[in-house]
Amino acid sequence: MVAGTLSGCEQQAIYQTEPALIVPEKILFAGISDDSLQRGCAVGESINHTRRLVNEPPAVIYPESFADKATSLFEGTSVTVEVWDEQRLIAEGCRAILAVGAGSSKSPRLLILRYEGGGTEKPLALVGKGVTFDSGGLSLKPSAGMVDMKCDMAGAATVVGAMHGIAKLGLQRNVIGFCGLAENMVSGDSYKLGDVIETRSGKTIEILNTDAEGRVVLADTLDVAIQHEPRAMVDLATLTGACMVALGTDIAGLMTNDQGVCDELQTAAGTEGEPVWQLPMFDIFDEKVKSKVADIKNVGEGRWGGAITAAKFLENFVGDVPWVHIDIAGPAFADGAKPSRDAGATGVMVRSLIRWVENSGV
Ligand SMILES: [Zn+2]
Repeated sequence: MVAGTLSGCEQQAIYQTEPALIVPEKILFAGISDDSLQRGCAVGESINHTRRLVNEPPAVIYPESFADKATSLFEGTSVTVEVWDEQRLIAEGCRAILAVGAGSSKSPRLLILRYEGGGTEKPLALVGKGVTFDSGGLSLKPSAGMVDMKCDMAGAATVVGAMHGIAKLGLQRNVIGFCGLAENMVSGDSYKLGDVIETRSGKTIEILNTDAEGRVVLADTLDVAIQHEPRAMVDLATLTGACMVALGTDIAGLMTNDQGVCDELQTAAGTEGEPVWQLPMFDIFDEKVKSKVADIKNVGEGRWGGAITAAKFLENFVGDVPWVHIDIAGPAFADGAKPSRDAGATGVMVRSLIRWVENSGV
């Protein structure tokens, strides 16, 4: 209730002279323990950090400024922040992230957030897609499809919000967050259809649609994450319209290589009242991302099963790590308000991730 109250006070009208939503100056709770109040505040604030990052316009939030905002958010907390700039990305061989960002005058970044509350145990990893604006690149989106594309960094913003909550609650876990940040734009330097990119992992990707850029950014981001040998890894991405076709706009799609971890996430989301639904990862989909000129291609065969073929693409970069991919293309950003929260960014999955990290038995 406390978290929901805070979340209900956050609005998308951050640039309205007289904001539509009138927020109370003070809220008093009766009959609630201090513990519940503090926990609710921590979770509510974390959801709102995510929503604020997503609701800001793309001229305000681009890879460098996203990294700056995260750096100042975690200043003086137990979360340490590492930012890889363009030079470091080149040195690290993150050619997939660099390719997606090549068309933009704003260079890409990779953000690493470390929280150590768990002694010597191996960490859990949270990975987020952070395409701070997605024009589609040379596979340009029409205006109607581009209008909300400031929200294409919601996965990365969710990782920031969840890390904030995990640290604030002092969970006794080691958790590392990874945000792959790039702006997908059109210029003479844009990556092109037919390009073949050698990812950081060494696997090659054939680009057949520059608007399927999220999985390309995640290819390198996941590769950096698995180098930290996580016990389990969850990635969040506004990845596919196909997931919205399959599940509607309120439900996040889960895809996994490890049923145990997926079950844990479903339980956590159920406890928090966030609807999720698992999609199958049958072998028959593996064929659909094979390329004729490279190891894999960044689109499936036609439109069918597009949420799953995207996950199959990602599976190439997770190694043996137990992993769950969460497609939040539907629920991350809402056209309409609900009685419980404003339209715009929703902060979906922040509370479920915090709950999962707290309870995970992996
Ligand atoms: Zn795209």
